[in-house]
Amino acid sequence: MADDSKCSGCASSGSCGQDPGACTPPVDPVEARMQGNLAKIRHKIVVLSGKGGVGKSTVAVNLAVGLALAGKRVGLLDVDVHGPSVPRLLSLTGQDPHMERDGMEPVSWGKNLGVMSLGFLLKDPDQAVIWRGPVKGGLIRQFLADVYWGELDYLVVDCPPGTGDEPMSVLQFLGPTASTVIVTTPQAVAVDDVRRSVSFVRLMGNPLLGLIENMSGFVCRHCGQVEDIFAAGGGEKLATEMGADFLGRIPLDPELVRSADEGYPLLKVDKEGHAARALLGVVDRLLALDKGRPEAVAAPPELPAEGVLRIALPLNGTMLSESPATCKRFLLVEVDKTAQAVGTKPLEDFPAEPGQWAAWLADQDVNVLLARGLAEADRAACAGRGLTVLQAPAGSPDAALDAYLKGALAVS
Ligand code: ADP
Repeated sequence: MADDSKCSGCASSGSCGQDPGACTPPVDPVEARMQGNLAKIRHKIVVLSGKGGVGKSTVAVNLAVGLALAGKRVGLLDVDVHGPSVPRLLSLTGQDPHMERDGMEPVSWGKNLGVMSLGFLLKDPDQAVIWRGPVKGGLIRQFLADVYWGELDYLVVDCPPGTGDEPMSVLQFLGPTASTVIVTTPQAVAVDDVRRSVSFVRLMGNPLLGLIENMSGFVCRHCGQVEDIFAAGGGEKLATEMGADFLGRIPLDPELVRSADEGYPLLKVDKEGHAARALLGVVDRLLALDKGRPEAVAAPPELPAEGVLRIALPLNGTMLSESPATCKRFLLVEVDKTAQAVGTKPLEDFPAEPGQWAAWLADQDVNVLLARGLAEADRAACAGRGLTVLQAPAGSPDAALDAYLKGALAVS
């Protein structure tokens, strides 16, 4: 029997005279080009925020640059149609994408990063854009269909704030495998907004890689220490409460303000400052997606026949800190040959200079570090001092220790 359901949605339904079984449904050429493009992109990362001004574009740009500097082929798509700031943040304002018959080339930033933004297509950068939802959706679709992205390891998408038309279109077009990162700030209003963003992502069915708390504390120009202005840690608490990962805490950093004003991404010039390390921690997390790190799970530890294994966990309050570089203290747990914790104590007063904590932990006879958010330099420092590092998920140190003893943590 002929399958009439094939005709539903076809403009010629009932009048073309063809047998539905023999008919090839018309292919939407834009859809076909978009799917062709998306099939060549390994990882899609959508950066979202509950509200504007929290540093979402700054984060998106630095993640894309961090991945490109790590040797990945990266696309950065700015779909913030009302405030496209990506060209300015990369000193690409005024660049014209090269147009061809069927589409256009992204604008290059360095060897590995191609950028597309409505900002390149508006003749007057101050021009207000007043478009309704379907038009914006159509534009996003065209950015995915008609830009020659080529083979990419990562496409990073900078979305407008909120949970409206554009983020919804982006997630719909990219499909359920697109991962999301949500940027928030410590203030309560932003935290409420981010709660909505988390539930939006979950409703859309996309993986949430985690939350980033931006503008969290302030890097003092004089001593280089991070001072908390607002009660910091709301993002981390919210992540724990909502069962999401906490990806890092980026302090307010005068260097980031300067980099935005002058149009260079922070990660191009700084890899050691507090903000740069936090951003690199998230870049690492994205790089892990490409390494298929979930397979790289460590076996349960070999426990010593004599004495104890000394395990350190970086803490902020009672929860695991997003990175040893920003923790307030380490919890030292001593485990004996029967995998029992036979002693715990805090380790404090470690040197605050970036990277010094690894050597200090080794001097305290620590054997294992359960942590995340390590920059490459930290990892090298740990390896150099014989410290084994495993990736600990956000949450309580007990859960991380338990997972480690069962052999369920990934090698960092
Ligand atoms: P959004 O995309 O969320 O609207 P932006 O990335 O445009 O936010 O950032 C808003 C402003 O805050 C910009 O001037 C940016 O340079 C600044 N900014 C963002 N994050 C930080 C930070 N951690 N330290 C200092 N300034 C920051």
